[in-house]
Amino acid sequence: MIEALIKKAEREKVLLINPPSPFLIEERVFAPTGVLYAAAELEQAGRAVEVLDLARKAKSSDEHRSYDSLVGEYENQYLDQVRAAARHFTHIGVSATTPQYKFAARILDAIRESNPDAVTILGGSHATLISGLRNRMIAHLSAKNPSYKSNLASLEAALDEIDPNFKSVGRYDHVVSGGASGIHQILAGNAPKWIISEKLGKDIDNVPMPARHLIDIDSYQYTLKNPHTGEVVKTTNVMSQWGCPFPCNFCSGRDDDFYRTVRTMSPQATIRELDFINEKYGIKGFMFFDDELNINNPRFRDLLVLLKQRHEERGYVYRGFVKSELITEKYPDTYKLMLDAGFAEACTGVESGSNKILTNVIKKNTTREINIKSAELARKAGISFKAFTMIGHPFETEADAYETYTWILESRPTGFDVTVHQPYPGAPVYDFAVKDPDTGNFYLTSKEVELSRDRKFTEGSDPKDAVFYFRKLDFASSTSDSFYKGKPGEYESNVWTPWLSPQRIVELRDKFEIEGKKALGATSVSGISYDSVMGQAAGASIKEEHKK
Ligand code: SF4
Repeated sequence: MIEALIKKAEREKVLLINPPSPFLIEERVFAPTGVLYAAAELEQAGRAVEVLDLARKAKSSDEHRSYDSLVGEYENQYLDQVRAAARHFTHIGVSATTPQYKFAARILDAIRESNPDAVTILGGSHATLISGLRNRMIAHLSAKNPSYKSNLASLEAALDEIDPNFKSVGRYDHVVSGGASGIHQILAGNAPKWIISEKLGKDIDNVPMPARHLIDIDSYQYTLKNPHTGEVVKTTNVMSQWGCPFPCNFCSGRDDDFYRTVRTMSPQATIRELDFINEKYGIKGFMFFDDELNINNPRFRDLLVLLKQRHEERGYVYRGFVKSELITEKYPDTYKLMLDAGFAEACTGVESGSNKILTNVIKKNTTREINIKSAELARKAGISFKAFTMIGHPFETEADAYETYTWILESRPTGFDVTVHQPYPGAPVYDFAVKDPDTGNFYLTSKEVELSRDRKFTEGSDPKDAVFYFRKLDFASSTSDSFYKGKPGEYESNVWTPWLSPQRIVELRDKFEIEGKKALGATSVSGISYDSVMGQAAGASIKEEHKK
């Protein structure tokens, strides 16, 4: 009788796993809210759910960002944990970003070894983006060749030819894209392999808060410095808005409703979540993972009023991303309001200092001058301002890359990052690239750069006309570092242009970072620990994952 009850309890219990992220300087910086949103959704539906958080606790300094370190002792440890836990659950979900997928693939093998009957589910941004791209490719290939509709084996072969990640992701029993609601279908026992979760409404006030109680939130270490008192406060990540409507061509999710549609939480609901976290965990610092806090300026200003109140009453401190032209055009007092409200730092994705790249290639809707103006407004307001840039855009020449460097020197941000462009699934540069049959590399000509903005596939391009190349990685097995931040001192580039080799891209990145930081003395005044780390989040354009 008791055994039957235990069996029933186990049958109804779901295990969700957050894979390790050894590519981060420290893994326990930002909480894995993707998996925690999914857990909250299941708890709300009355399901018993547990989270196995495999983010490694503080590493010794010689282990920073080493994939190889996981091949040894720690890999055995985390896979042992998976094997031990997997026996007790019938449904096991893994939520992974693209760089985490390498570990999610190994976790799948460990689950199957330990509990071959468990139903395995992949969710998170990698699942969403690969699934969306797969659907678009099926539509595109079938329109070109209607015989694919009846010959599924040849369709799968054509898909594999385009992207090895379809097959590796498809090893999971189910792949859930979008939010977590698709898991209910799986638990009900009537789900297809590839599932698109129900669309979220525009109002997300009633989406349950991430189930932070299911992980050791205290072990996550991030701090912000109160810009007015200097107090350093423990900080965690939150989201008050999901999705971004802009078309930037390096940013994943531009074709996915989940990442493109803006859904906002009311300022009041946002404050309720911050207060809940403060009262339950004593946390006073909040890193907003919103793509751009000021997409809807009137709402942002309402939120700033409440944030300021809490800053004054309870000492809350914040950090978040804003979009430059949405400040310079109509709201030049934004930085002042942010500082008054308790923002330790405002961050901006500047991407490039070249107007050619910003306007003709990325379609960022900003210019070099707008970004200079924005940095100037931040400086005048007295708020710390961090700029994120990268090298390795389509069409980029050495002169364009140097424009990014001179932008940094001219704008004098408080802090900046120069990273190497790493194309990820779901970004127009990745999705619309063409395979060179001779080399296996992917490329874009000016035609793909142009038409990808309208989400159109091209025909008849010639690699001789390429303006951008990249190595498409199988993220399940690649030995190449697929994280856009790279390893300090060991950056590698998987992209190049006819004018910039992969080696030159890395040389320029290192030069700009080192010499620029020396020239500006650029250190953040915000008291931010692990300043160059962005953790992984749900729902964010991975942007969080990809851009920052
Ligand atoms: S880079 Fe920023 S503005 Fe551009 S699409 Fe991504 S989130 Fe939106």
